[in-house]
Amino acid sequence: MRIVVAMKQVPDTTDVRIDEERGTLVREGVPAIMNPFDAYALEEGLRWRDALGWPVIALTMGPPQAMEMLREAVSIGADEALLLSDRAFAGADTWATAHTIASAVEKLGDVAMVLTGKQAIDGDTAQTGPGIAAALDWPQLTFVGRVSEVAGDHVTVERYVEGGCEVLRCPLPALLTILKDANVPRMPSIRGKMKARKMEIPVWGLEELGLEEGEVGLEGSPTRVVRIRTPEMRGGGEIHEGEPEELARLLADRLLGEREPS
Ligand SMILES: Cc1cc2nc3c(=O)[nH]c(=O)nc-3n(C[C@H](O)[C@H](O)[C@H](O)COP(=O)(O)OP(=O)(O)OC[C@H]3O[C@@H](n4cnc5c(N)ncnc54)[C@H](O)[C@@H]3O)c2cc1C
Repeated sequence: MRIVVAMKQVPDTTDVRIDEERGTLVREGVPAIMNPFDAYALEEGLRWRDALGWPVIALTMGPPQAMEMLREAVSIGADEALLLSDRAFAGADTWATAHTIASAVEKLGDVAMVLTGKQAIDGDTAQTGPGIAAALDWPQLTFVGRVSEVAGDHVTVERYVEGGCEVLRCPLPALLTILKDANVPRMPSIRGKMKARKMEIPVWGLEELGLEEGEVGLEGSPTRVVRIRTPEMRGGGEIHEGEPEELARLLADRLLGEREPS
């Protein structure tokens, strides 16, 4: 059995710049990092590797420079790594991304668990994890705040939802999306860094995955980005001070349009 951790390389910025013409984020010249949520997914995988001896494979679908993030995952402790990269994968929406990753998991075989972060900080859809599970026809446990047990044929988790926590168990293989703070991610080790520098990381493209152009990337994406833009900054609000009754009257009048702004 083995554990796959799907990780995304994302722009290291909150100052996201948009190419309104191409309908994409400007990634050129923007430093890239491991998606912060995925560090918790990786740590969860490594915890169960340490407990059960199931090797961890860090996997990403991305451009060649995403190899850097995989080397970081190996320096932290991943046993193997795999880059899914091909020009045909560009422009993928979450469906096409999930479909491509699922086909890699099938090709790897003998995978007991796929772990993902809750969401990526650039696309922010939180759709890829559930999409991979659907493509594999596996059960999925999302918003996992704690993995309390992994046995040969099932996994038990605490799922954090609004107002509480659900304790869920499902058969393996399964997909889990891991919440921030589900654990404390470990740091890269010297040995890990040396291993990462030497490691030959395989790259799988369309051919290795046995996929057609029409089912991956922009071509294979049911959704299209019609327009992407930075919303206009709205003018600042008004701050009023005074007695609660007076302020309540002012607000009511304003809402009813009976008093113009002073
Ligand atoms: C601003 C913006 C808006 C977008 N909106 C949409 C949209 O509404 N609908 C849509 O279908 N696509 C959308 N996309 C495209 C979408 O970003 C990509 O499809 C992307 O590959 C996956 O979606 P995500 O970034 O939302 O990741 P999420 O689904 O939020 O990622 C969840 C987890 O899945 C794993 N994961 C995600 N991507 C990869 C990867 N490439 N390799 C390995 N693991 C991965 C990681 O563990 C991650 O933590 C958008 C992209 C951008 C930049």
